[in-house]
Amino acid sequence: MGGRKRRRKILKRPPKRIPKVFSCPHCDTRSVTVELDRKRGVAIVQCGNCRLKVEIKIPEVFEEVHAFNKFVDLYYEGKIEAL
Ligand SMILES: [Zn+2]
Repeated sequence: MGGRKRRRKILKRPPKRIPKVFSCPHCDTRSVTVELDRKRGVAIVQCGNCRLKVEIKIPEVFEEVHAFNKFVDLYYEGKIEAL
């Protein structure tokens, strides 16, 4: 008789948790949220502390974190004006 076949346990990995709250380059507080509007192809980046709010155009493949990185880049390039 053949040996027993070992069953491979398939480990379910928990979905990657991407933090949805980011640090604000303007007020240095962790209170920036990113909302993706896929229909319009924009990300709405908003700081709950200093009220900085911008919309940036993003490619379809962008996730929140990418949009946030772009936002930070634009901020340091002086392309985002704090209100
Ligand atoms: Zn802020």
